[in-house]
Amino acid sequence: MTAFDLRGERHRLKQLTDDGNTKLFTNRDGVECPACRTAFERLFVTERAATSFPENDGSRFCLLNESDAVYVFRH
Ligand SMILES: [Zn+2]
Repeated sequence: MTAFDLRGERHRLKQLTDDGNTKLFTNRDGVECPACRTAFERLFVTERAATSFPENDGSRFCLLNESDAVYVFRH
């Protein structure tokens, strides 16, 4: 089953923002994206039903829809 253990990987990520419902992390230890199995650059986590993603430079991103939140991995 595809999943992402944010609690387990937390020490390998650096948190940039947290507004209560959304969080942004940067990958500082080559943590793998659960969708494509390559290291990602940024991880955006949202618990909102509707979210507008921050602008990016056109990089590929992967989406993981979990019961607690939606995880967006930018490469
Ligand atoms: Zn990916």
